[in-house]
Formats: sequence, structure tokens, C-alpha cells
Amino acid sequence: MDNTSNFIKTIIEKDLESGKVKEVVTRFPPEPNAYLHIGHARAIVADFELAQMFGGRTNLRFDDTNPEKEEAEFVDAIIEDLRWLGYEPHNILFGSDYFEEQYELAIKLIKKGLAYVDDLTQEEIREYRGTLTEPGKNSPYRDRSVEENLELFENMKNGMYKEGEKVLRAKIDMSHPNLNMRDPVIYRILYTPHHRHGNKWCIYPMYDFAHPTQDAIEGITHSLCSLEYVNHRILYDWFVEKCEMEHVPQQIEFGRLNITNTIMSKRYLRMLVESGKVEGYDDPRMPTLVGLRRRGFTPDAIKNFIRSTGLARINSTVDYAMLEHFLREDLKLKTNRIMAVIDPVKVIITNYPEGIVEYLEANNNPENEDFGTRKVAFSRELYIEREDFMLEKPNKHYKRLALGLEVRLYHAYFIKANDVVYDEDGNIKEIHCTYDPETKSGSGFNARKPNGTIHFVEATTARPATFNLFEPLILDEDESKDLLERINPNSWQISSGYVENFKENFEVGDKFQFVRNGYYAVDKTSKNDKLVFNRIVALKSSVK
Ligand code: ATP
Ligand code: MG
Repeated sequence: MDNTSNFIKTIIEKDLESGKVKEVVTRFPPEPNAYLHIGHARAIVADFELAQMFGGRTNLRFDDTNPEKEEAEFVDAIIEDLRWLGYEPHNILFGSDYFEEQYELAIKLIKKGLAYVDDLTQEEIREYRGTLTEPGKNSPYRDRSVEENLELFENMKNGMYKEGEKVLRAKIDMSHPNLNMRDPVIYRILYTPHHRHGNKWCIYPMYDFAHPTQDAIEGITHSLCSLEYVNHRILYDWFVEKCEMEHVPQQIEFGRLNITNTIMSKRYLRMLVESGKVEGYDDPRMPTLVGLRRRGFTPDAIKNFIRSTGLARINSTVDYAMLEHFLREDLKLKTNRIMAVIDPVKVIITNYPEGIVEYLEANNNPENEDFGTRKVAFSRELYIEREDFMLEKPNKHYKRLALGLEVRLYHAYFIKANDVVYDEDGNIKEIHCTYDPETKSGSGFNARKPNGTIHFVEATTARPATFNLFEPLILDEDESKDLLERINPNSWQISSGYVENFKENFEVGDKFQFVRNGYYAVDKTSKNDKLVFNRIVALKSSVK
């Protein structure tokens, strides 16, 4: 978190001042049923940085109490994502490791007359619950004796009933204005094996009971969660109080983060993967942390973006352009600025000798001298971007090459276009130019003003490369349409071109600024003889 205040920071400060809390302990509680996405990053940043700010600690606790949804594969992925973001949990814990203690707490509630075994079906329970305007009705099993409840609950645990035959419910108030307080179910029977405990248990605690008791057992002081839990807080507090927990954690809700043109619901992300519309969870168009990482996003850019969105008690939608801004800010001083041509057309310098390659000095990052300099190849044959040439200058704002006009080649010479050669289809195949040796970059030549500066790559030393260009995967335009129909058909475009031979080995994840274009990262599918780059973000000037 940055230094600006937010309401949670204020609450923590007060708690420390009053002595209510000695050490701040938070937890990040993902369900291991999917990959983390950038929305989760808000919860992660809040949990870790608010604790850090006050010298406290943060646990990673997998919320794995529902055996039907969790998969071990996601556990490792989540740990890796956290580390990639730069956070090391104080402890890595599993909610399911408290099953024993939670079972004892349920017995305590039964003994206190605060929980009962109910034989109503799931549907009946729903009917009996009432509505916002009508109170609920008591279950006919609500007044079972403590002894009977203890026995039935034990039988539940011992597998004597079928799924759905019985549940354990808290005995609170069937006419409570908050529906969550109308005798919520706290245990149900499930014969699904658990990813960590196998068949040991056939009764599983519900979230509303599991979460507060896990927090209390772990000594969490501030249990931060997103806004949809606000109506569950009263129940959270009820369980902590009635179970007589030694540590009393405090639930605080913050608004969820939404980003324009970005789907963050796990259900939809899973649908995209399962329908084959994307390559997988790490498809570079996905808002998952694995997808963003593959695309080339940096932890700092993500964290700075998250910090900039603040923490408030309302859900918010942030423009994707904000995230792009933080990417550019972060990459600007951290990347080499090299030249790549993503849609090439050949240039022949007719007055340059054949068979010679000259090397010109170029700085690697004009804004950061630490990056040093390199040699850029130049010869009779070059590539430039197709869009940097037109037969005729269309208007006075056009600052690129055209017949009869002269431009500066970045780091090299002035060239003038004299002629073009077409292929059989009538497309321009070659642009014939002449160069002026007097105009070498760095020579101080300033007798004429060229019609702009463009980039190039020398043809014989250039490395062939594929460029993945991305647009939003899903468009917000028509939200009434089915998600799979809102997929942007142009979300992944591929272009073939060349990159300067900056280094022998381009490692997966290496990031560059391709001048006049954008920031790119070497994709995981890249090989040194077949380079593949992902566009992370375009330079601001090239945003359409
Ligand atoms: P779903 O996508 O199904 O709603 P979830 O967000 O509840 O899942 P969890 O694994 O339970 O997924 O999330 C862990 C934590 O991350 C929770 O505390 C949740 O509140 C928080 N979180 C998830 N999405 C966002 C978001 N977009 N903004 C802020 N916090 C989020
Ligand atoms: Mg959840």
C-alpha cells in the first residue's frame, strides 16, 4: 500500500493504539479451485502490505473445506503466483487442517443448545427460510435434545447417513432480518474424498462456520475480504463469540476490483479454458497472473496499479488504460530499446557497397545510462515497417518515408526514397533509396531537416521473429450477449518480421522496448532460431 490513507489502515492504527491488537496478523484465503487473477491481486496486496506496514505477518491459508471443488494443482500455482508477486507468506496453511478442532467446536455449540441436527431436505430448508419480507419457520427438528443432537452428529460423522439426509444447523433465529442468521447450515454430509484428507471425513463445515473459526484458531486480527461478505459479518461474529474463541478476529470488507474489458470471475475463466477459446490459464490474453506473467507483465507494474486503485468500501471499475500506464512506467527504465520490424518491407540502399556490414553505435536506453551501448548493423539491405512508407506524402503531418523524401534512420543515416519495385501481386517488394554518408548519427550533421525518423533492421543479420499482438479478449460493448459470443476475433494477431540481432540467446521472459512500437517479452514458445515475442503494451503514441 502506498502512504495515502485508506479506511482499513485507519482501523488498524486505532486497534494498535487502543491495545486491542498487539501484532497485526492477516491471511490471504484463496479457494484452490482456480488460478489467481488480477482481481485477487487487490486482496493479496491489501493482506500483505497492510500487515507489513505495521510489522505484522500474513498467512496464506487455502480455503479448502469444500472437497468437491478443490484441486491440488492449483495449490502449487497459487504459491508460485504469490512468490512471483514478491510476497512470502509467514505460514502456508490449509483450512482443512482444522477439521478436528472445528468438529469439537460444533460439539461445543450443540452442548450449549446452539446447534441441532436437522432432517429437512435442502429444498425444505430453503422453503422454511422465508424471504426478506417474510420471517422463516422453525424446523420440526429444531428442538431435539442436546443428547440426541450429539448422537446424531456423531452418526453423521461416522457415515451412517446418506448425503443430504441430515445437516447440522446453528440455532439462531428463524425470523432474523438477516437471512444468513436464520439457522444456517454448518455441516453437511459429502462422500467426496478430500484432496488432503482422503476419506477421513464425510462431514464438511460450511464456509460461514469454517472461515471465522479458522481465522480465530490462527490468531488472525484483521480478516479482510471483499464486499459480498458484508452480510455475513454478523454470523462471523456470532460463531466467534458462541464458540468462545480465545482470539477475536475482525472481518473488514473492501470493494472488489473490476477492470474494463476484463472478465475476472473464475467461473468464466474456467469456461474460456474448457471451451478451448484460449490456450489455457496462461494464455497471454487471460487476466490470470500466469497469463499476465507469460505476456510479460511485471510484478511491480501490477502492484503499483493495484496500489493506485486504493481500497474503499465500494466496488470499483478501473480503466484498463491505467494498467497499461503502470506497465509503461515500470518498463521504461528497465528495458533495452532495440529495433524490430513487425511488418517488413525491404529497402535497398543503391549507393551503398554490396557485401559490407557496418556497425553503428547506439545507446540501449537514452533514459538510463546503466544500460550502456551496442552496435547496430547497417548495410545495403534493410527492412523498415510497411506503414512507414507511402508513394506520396499525403499531408504535412506525415513524418515518414515517401518517394522523393528523406528520413533519418534511427541510429544511422538519412535515406531518400527514389523508386519502388513491385511483386506479381502489385505489392511493393522493394524500396530503392540512396543514403548520405555525411549524415551518420552522432556526426553532428544538421544541415537539413529530414521528414521524420523511422526505425529499421539490417537484413542479413536480422533475426526472424513472430510477434503476438493482443487486443482485449472480451469486449464490454454488448453485455447482454453470451460471454463466448463476446470474444474479440482480433484478440490475438500474429505478425512475422525481424528483430535486430541484439543478443545470441533471447531468454523466455526477456523484455524489450521495440522503438516506436511497444514493450515486448519473449514468449514461452520462443526458440533462438524461431523467436516469438508477445506485445505487453503498445507505446502510448501507438495506441489507436
Ligand atoms: P469467484 O471468482 O468465484 O468469486 P473468489 O473471488 O471468491 O471467487 P477466492 O479464491 O475465494 O475467489 O478469493 C480469495 C480472496 O480474493 C477473497 O478474499 C476474495 O474476496 C478476493 N478477491 C477475489 N476477487 C477479487 C476482486 N476482483 N477484487 C478484490 N478482491 C478479490
Ligand atoms: Mg471465495
